[in-house]
Amino acid sequence: MTDILTDAPAYTDRTGAAHALPDADAEARLRADDRAHVFHSWSAQALIDPLPVAAGEGSTFWDYEGNAYLDFSSQLVNLNLGHQHPDLVAAIQQQAGRLATIQPIMANDVRGELARRIAEVAPGDLDKVFFTNGGADANEYAVRMARAVTGRPKVLSMYRSYHGGTGTAISLTGDPRRWANEPSDRSVAHFFGPYPYRSAFHATTPEEETQRALAHLEQVITLEGASTIAAIIIETVVGTNGVLVPPPGYLQGVRELADKYGIVYIADEVMVGFGRVGEWFAVNHFDVVPDLITFAKGVNSGYVPLGGVVISDRIASHFDTVPFAGGLTYSGHPLACAAGVATFEVFERDRLLERVRDLGSRVVEPRLREIATAHPSVGDVRGLGLFWAIELVRDRETREPFVPFNAGGKDAAPMAAVTAACKRAGLWPFVHFNRLHVAPPLVISEADLIRGLDIIDDALSVADAAIG
Ligand code: PLP
Repeated sequence: MTDILTDAPAYTDRTGAAHALPDADAEARLRADDRAHVFHSWSAQALIDPLPVAAGEGSTFWDYEGNAYLDFSSQLVNLNLGHQHPDLVAAIQQQAGRLATIQPIMANDVRGELARRIAEVAPGDLDKVFFTNGGADANEYAVRMARAVTGRPKVLSMYRSYHGGTGTAISLTGDPRRWANEPSDRSVAHFFGPYPYRSAFHATTPEEETQRALAHLEQVITLEGASTIAAIIIETVVGTNGVLVPPPGYLQGVRELADKYGIVYIADEVMVGFGRVGEWFAVNHFDVVPDLITFAKGVNSGYVPLGGVVISDRIASHFDTVPFAGGLTYSGHPLACAAGVATFEVFERDRLLERVRDLGSRVVEPRLREIATAHPSVGDVRGLGLFWAIELVRDRETREPFVPFNAGGKDAAPMAAVTAACKRAGLWPFVHFNRLHVAPPLVISEADLIRGLDIIDDALSVADAAIG
C-alpha cells in the first residue's frame, strides 16, 4: 500500500520527458488551453477555475505548484485502486499491444473473462453482462430492458438520488441536477427513501423508518398504477445525496413489493459496487437479489470508461429470441475490460474486500464517532466500509443544516470555508450540500487514512466557529 508521499515527484509530459515541480510555464500553457477550449461539466464556464493536475500516485495527486493532495474523494468516487496502479496500467498497455479495439458483435477474450468474473460475484441468477461506457448509459439500458420485458412505461426512483446525466438517467435523478433538464423522460415518478436522521415519515427508530418508507412506496405504486410501472431503481447505498445506508429490512421490502406488483428491481451500484462498502456488490451486504444491477466507476477505477448492466436469467431470457434494441460502438471495449480483469486480480490478491471492512469498522467508524462527539457542528455520521458522510448542522437540536439545501454562492460560503481548510492542509475532500464524505481509494495506507481524518477533524473547527 502507498505510504505517505510528501515530496512532489517529477512529472512526465506526454512525450515522456520528466520535469520537476513546480512548473509555472507548463501550468500556464495548460490553463490557457483549458480556459479557451474545454467546456466543463455542470458548471458556469466563466465562474470556475479547474485545478491543473500534474501527476497522481496511489491516494495522492499533485498540482503544478507541487502541492500534494490526499484524495479523500477518489476523484468522483471511481478511483478505488488509486492513481497509476501498476497492475491496471500494465494490463491496459498489454491489451493495447495485442488488440486495442474490436466491435461489440464479435467475441473477445478479456470481455468474456470480465463478464464471467462479474457474474461469479453477482448474487442469485444475475449471469449476463451488457457493457456500456459508464453509469448513466448503464441505467438507460437497464430501464430499457425493464420496459421491454414488462411492456410498461413508468419508472420509480428516490428524491435523494443521482442516476446520471443523460435523458432518462437525469429524469430518474432525484437531486437538483434534474431541474434544469426537465422535462425529459416524463415516465418517471419520485418517492421518499429511508433517511433516519431526517425522516420524511417522522420515524424515531430504524424499524419504524423501514416500515413507513415501505408503506409510502407501496402507496406510490398504487397511486401511480402498478400496471404502468416497469421498474424501481434504487442506489443500494445512496451516494452523492448523503451516504444513506438503508435500515434493516428496507431493501428486502422493496424486493417483495417488486415481486408483488411484477416490477423490475434495478440496483444502481455505479458508486457503491466493486468494493466501496466491502462487498463486490453492496446488495450482497443486505442479502437481497435485484433483477438488474448497474455498475461503472470501481469496475476498473475509471482508467478507461466502462459501465454495464448485470442481468438476471429471467430478464436475459426474454431477449433469447427477441432482439435487444440497443447498443454502443464501444460496448465491452478491450482496453476497459482488460483493466477490469486486472481489478479482479488485484482485489483477490490483496484481499481488498476484507481490508475495506476492517479499515471501515476499526479505523473510520470509531474516529468519526469521536469527531461527532467533539464537534458541535456535526449532526450525524453514517456509512459502511470506506464510504462515510459527516453531516453538518447549525444546531444539533433542531438539525438545521449547516448550509441550506442546494446552497450556492454566499449561502454556501460556510461550507466552502471548511473545504478550503481541508485543501490548505493537503486533503481533497468530497463535499455535497452540508456534508463531507469520506471516500478514499480502497488501497489507501492506514497512515494516510488516519492523517486524512486528522485533517478533517481540524477543519471542522472552522465549522464549529461558524455556528458560534
Ligand atoms: N449512478 C450513480 C449512483 C452515480 O453516482 C453516478 C455518477 O456519479 C452515475 C449513476 C452516473 O455515472 P456516469 O457519470 O459514469 O454516467
